[in-house]
Amino acid sequence: MNLIDGKAISAKCKEEVRLEAIEMAKNGVKPGLAVILVGEDKASQTYVASKEKACKMCEINSFMYRLDAETSEAALLDLISDLNQNDEVDGILVQLPLPKHIDTNKILEAIDPNKDVDGFSAINVGRLVSGLDSFVPCTPLGIMRLFKDYGIDLVGKNALVIGRSNIVGKPMANLLLNASASVSVVHSKTKNLEFYTKNADIIVVAIGRPNFLKAEMVKDGAVVIDVGINRLDDGRLVGDADFDGLKDKCSFITPVPGGVGPMTIAMLLKNTIQAAKNRQKR
Ligand code: NAP
Repeated sequence: MNLIDGKAISAKCKEEVRLEAIEMAKNGVKPGLAVILVGEDKASQTYVASKEKACKMCEINSFMYRLDAETSEAALLDLISDLNQNDEVDGILVQLPLPKHIDTNKILEAIDPNKDVDGFSAINVGRLVSGLDSFVPCTPLGIMRLFKDYGIDLVGKNALVIGRSNIVGKPMANLLLNASASVSVVHSKTKNLEFYTKNADIIVVAIGRPNFLKAEMVKDGAVVIDVGINRLDDGRLVGDADFDGLKDKCSFITPVPGGVGPMTIAMLLKNTIQAAKNRQKR
């Protein structure tokens, strides 16, 4: 088994970003990321604080907007409209989930697609599906970088994505397809899930079910990428794959924590740098 060290690759990516930002600064360009948090969700507060810290480390300006939970949809749309016009802001990220009184799709669609560094807007999703340049959601983009850095060949491989969320499963499936893997996507309504898992060379599991994927469900030498982040009652953090059971059967596997998780913020920074470069060209 080869352990995929997301922490190390993430650190490498952040250093690449930092050096690019320093280079851009020589030409008077300072990339900027605006992050909007509405409400007091604890996990979201932690994510937003990590994003702010990562920006600082990588010479990216961060503009943080911590809004109270009662903020109206109209006020949030006004803020996004201002940020769309603001030349110091290259990327805009709205931390999800939003409070229930706000229409998430309406908010995501209000972000200028050129600043949509999360890649959630319909334009970027459409471009990804069409195989065109686009901002790609950070978690699946980070997984593609792990495949690349570990030399994991995707061409013609049977790749399976478990989970079909807009944030992970669907963009992951499209990226694998664009990379010429033969892709299956399964979800909670899939019948005989093991038929798919046992035939897969590469499995990306993103469902939010602790230790769901077991050794007997996968073939020898499979690559397992575990996106899940699950907090157990005893406080331990585990993934969607049963790491201890799988590790001796897989050719490559990501741990939780320290696998996919650290890649997500690194890719957000990469997307922000890309947005800043694109703006210079326009
Ligand atoms: P989500 O929106 O809740 O989607 C979960 C998906 O899993 C759905 O498509 C659901 O199917 C499917 N599913 C649920 N139970 C299943 C089962 N027993 N068998 C097969 N499919 C099943 O979740 P998400 O946002 O994609 O996140 C998934 C996990 O990844 C969570 O643990 C989350 O915390 C983690 N995550 C990690 C990162 C990171 O940076 N590492 C980023 C994002 C998410 P249906 O569509 O049929 O309901």
